[in-house]
Amino acid sequence: MINSSTDFSYCQLDDDTLHEECGVFGILGHAEAATLTALGLHALQHRGQDAAGIVSYGHSAFHAEKQMGLVGDHYTDPATLARLPGVMAIGHVRYPTSGEIALRNVQPLFAELEVGGIAIAHNGNFTNGMTLRRELIAGGAICQSTSDSEVVLHLIARSRYASSSERFVDAIQQVEGGYAMLALTRTKLIATRDPIGIRPLVMGTLDGKPIFCSETCALDIIGAQYIRDVENGEVIICELQKNGSIVTKTIKPVSKKPERLCLFEYIYFSRPDSIVGKRSIYTVRKNMGMNLAIEAPCREGDVVVSVPDSGTPAAIGYAQESSIPFELGIIRNHYVGRTFIEPTQHIRALGAKLKHSANRAVIAGRRVILVDDSIVRGTTSLKIVRMLRDAGAIEVHIRIASPMISYPDFYGIDTPKAEKLLANQHPNLQSMCDYIGANSLKFLSIDGLYRAIGGKPRDHLNPQFTDHYFTGHYPTRLIDQESINKNHTLATLRSSC
Ligand code: AMP
Repeated sequence: MINSSTDFSYCQLDDDTLHEECGVFGILGHAEAATLTALGLHALQHRGQDAAGIVSYGHSAFHAEKQMGLVGDHYTDPATLARLPGVMAIGHVRYPTSGEIALRNVQPLFAELEVGGIAIAHNGNFTNGMTLRRELIAGGAICQSTSDSEVVLHLIARSRYASSSERFVDAIQQVEGGYAMLALTRTKLIATRDPIGIRPLVMGTLDGKPIFCSETCALDIIGAQYIRDVENGEVIICELQKNGSIVTKTIKPVSKKPERLCLFEYIYFSRPDSIVGKRSIYTVRKNMGMNLAIEAPCREGDVVVSVPDSGTPAAIGYAQESSIPFELGIIRNHYVGRTFIEPTQHIRALGAKLKHSANRAVIAGRRVILVDDSIVRGTTSLKIVRMLRDAGAIEVHIRIASPMISYPDFYGIDTPKAEKLLANQHPNLQSMCDYIGANSLKFLSIDGLYRAIGGKPRDHLNPQFTDHYFTGHYPTRLIDQESINKNHTLATLRSSC
């Protein structure tokens, strides 16, 4: 179904929205650009398992391969890689939790413009994407996809600046929200992060050639060196010269604001071996578990068990701090994607069952402390508690290594509408605990989380991170949401007249 430009109902954050979690990778000047991009995307697979795409430039033309499914399903085929010649490429893995899962939405998105071809790969969400899109369509633009990222291509096309990089800078100054974005032109690889750096993006080098990617694990897989994080609000333009050398230029078009990385990168999203915001994800998650053990001890527990894989580092931290043994009490089947990949609650619940099983040897007759990174809808906790009881656990005490999620996200992390969040479906913690069927349920405090990451409690006047899912403090304007709310109010007023 193609959404109408004037109907905003389709862009609300429900099970039918365009809402993505993604990973990006780009390289300039390397003879094996497409193969290295495929390997980089493979390392970023956890950021998006629905589809993967690569665009390269070589032999005076752009080349694109876009496929539904995993990177390894397609980009290991030499014939596919041979269709991506050239020394420059960008790639994208996509993870729409809902909305249209269609090839036309698979990135990188490409357009042939007055200034030449340009491809873009975007991780994040624009909070004014739908508003811009409506304006563009009203002005005659023809949209090829239902992805909010496409508005950037239109803004580049309409910009009055002379060069593609100036037009890119002009375009990103008109979008609002969370983004890490790469662009590829005939000679340039451009990288940028939003003004407060909600989504991560790092710069690396291989054989002296520049690389940009969402996380450092994509550098490690190809033996590249990490140089630095792309700064919030920074645009880095790397241009390939005729003699093969590369000239790098940095622009900061917006006045610098303090960086506020998304806490969910630390809690759940990034890979434990990545360094994000100069911090080891593994160490941060372990610290979260240690702080949780201090804040919410469970002396009656016999064994600490994690919900693998994302809960494991915190469970190890909890076990170490409380001197209770950590055991592999739940085994994860790695051949099933993340729970949220499935578009409906029914299938999601089934997916969760396919994904985990209890290890009776560890569970039977024990009082289990179950550690997970977060509770969103409560699907996982509900299922795992049942599973542990079926396996003979005599008590199940849940400890969550982040605070209660009460507000939806609009910056590229999948969360359902506010009313579908478990925390909003129950009047208090005890009611949530009873629903899940646990003996006790406790969450890490917001200060405990901040201390685990940055060593300091939350600065309430100027929070160091993006944390609206816990606090309701959105770091940017939510322009599309404001418009939706206004339309709802008008509709309600009209119907009550
Ligand atoms: P739920 O089952 O709805 O309560 O979701 C919580 C579980 O999903 C936890 O085990 C998390 O590891 C995982 N999770 C948390 N956030 C996300 C997300 N944005 N996308 C996919 N899975 C998530």
